[in-house]
Amino acid sequence: MSRENSLSADVIVVGSGPGGATVARELTKAGKKVLILERGDDFRNKFYYGTYLGAVIYSERRSLLFTKEGLNIIAPIMVGGATSMYCGCAAPPPTWLKDKYGINLNAEVNQTIHELNIKPLPEELRGEASTRIAHAAKALGYDWYAQPKFMDPDRSIKLGKKFKCHATTMLGCRCGAKWNAAEWVDDAVLNGAQLKTKARVSRVIIENGRAVGVEGKISGKNFKAFADTVVLSAGGIGSPRVMQASGFSQAGVGMTMDTTVMVYGFTKQNGTGKEPPMTWSWENDKDGYMLSTLTDPWLLYPMVAIRKGLGPALRWYQWNKMLGIMIKLKDDTSGGVYPNGKISKPLTSGDEKSLNSANEVCKKILIEAGADKSSIFMTPFRGTHPSGTVRVGEMLDINLQSEAKGLYVCDASVFPESLDRPTVLTIISLGKRLAKHLLN
Ligand SMILES: Cc1cc2nc3c(=O)[nH]c(=O)nc-3n(C[C@H](O)[C@H](O)[C@H](O)COP(=O)(O)OP(=O)(O)OC[C@H]3O[C@@H](n4cnc5c(N)ncnc54)[C@H](O)[C@@H]3O)c2cc1C
Repeated sequence: MSRENSLSADVIVVGSGPGGATVARELTKAGKKVLILERGDDFRNKFYYGTYLGAVIYSERRSLLFTKEGLNIIAPIMVGGATSMYCGCAAPPPTWLKDKYGINLNAEVNQTIHELNIKPLPEELRGEASTRIAHAAKALGYDWYAQPKFMDPDRSIKLGKKFKCHATTMLGCRCGAKWNAAEWVDDAVLNGAQLKTKARVSRVIIENGRAVGVEGKISGKNFKAFADTVVLSAGGIGSPRVMQASGFSQAGVGMTMDTTVMVYGFTKQNGTGKEPPMTWSWENDKDGYMLSTLTDPWLLYPMVAIRKGLGPALRWYQWNKMLGIMIKLKDDTSGGVYPNGKISKPLTSGDEKSLNSANEVCKKILIEAGADKSSIFMTPFRGTHPSGTVRVGEMLDINLQSEAKGLYVCDASVFPESLDRPTVLTIISLGKRLAKHLLN
């Protein structure tokens, strides 16, 4: 395939989650010619978008992606990346990103908060049971706060729809209230970007220590694309795979996940299932975990609970009598994404200590909130933040550039350690910062 017959641009962006969408949007605003290559399709107008069927269709390995240790990873493959299925929570980057690694995102964070109107849901929409959990926690001395969201009920009203971002928003948002990075891909395309979907990049073409393009398959057919700058934003699993195939053997060695479990307890009152996810949160930075209100969508609950035994699964009929608290761990870097396609994410003894401490706090809060003590149980591990696989400070410099000139990475894989909080605001801010760097 000759260079003349191939695609070309000023900048190639691989992946269209929050990292890729932000970089593409910012660069096209400044007049750059951008080519976005996205492995998945755009499912937003499909009848099954935001349904259980949809989640099976657009998640990697039909939602059955497991690590060697049995941790279930949800990795959406589609325009907008995982923001199609996220809970819409926004958290500023941890202070250590600036203090320890010299990455100051204050300006970009403030700009994004303003641009996307990020704030907690109005009090009356935070959910009665979720608010009961937050009040119980406060009564015990844990200062929970109303979680800022990328969710705005007014956006639904403007679309003539009813705000309905409940647990099922994790299958995809059908009411339009939740911001999705696909909207910034739309902006980039309006500004002149070329978007190729079903385009899976396999490797970066590097000549004399410089990235000059990428190659892979579009709808099963081989292609090459050329540009002076390549930005990998294929996510915490996708980016290290492309890096490995491009000769970076350290990519994917070690991984963070903000490893997650749910702690459930049954009550006589209504539970958190029919309420917006993660409306109240609390962080314990000292012990390394975050807690938030959340329940698995109705049809997913038995599939999760059966792995804990018949007892919890048989209480499916009481799904809406359940109070749920999610634990996210600041897990150590461990395991990794291997060239043979396998993924490993073992818990370290430090992770187990944090988990035990978080579980004890959750039990106390659930009991205080009215849950029957004997009904409380913890679900198996899962991961929705695959990250830390192409770490800044190790494989990337402070501007996110790799050893190959012109090859940048901008997504969750660049985190130098587990963020242990919602990732998207940090990733968007990194994207804005990288775009400024590239334009300078
Ligand atoms: C159920 C769920 C709930 C979540 N809730 C929240 C939340 O409330 N708040 C929050 O901040 N975060 C949340 N997250 C996490 C957050 O959505 C992700 O961490 C974030 O989207 C990662 O962004 P990214 O740009 O790194 O990659 P992704 O969003 O994963 O995007 C990567 C993109 O690259 C594409 N791609 C992969 N490989 C290739 C390739 N070889 N070639 C071309 N394209 C490729 C993928 O199809 C994908 O579209 C949640 C995640 C899930 C799954």
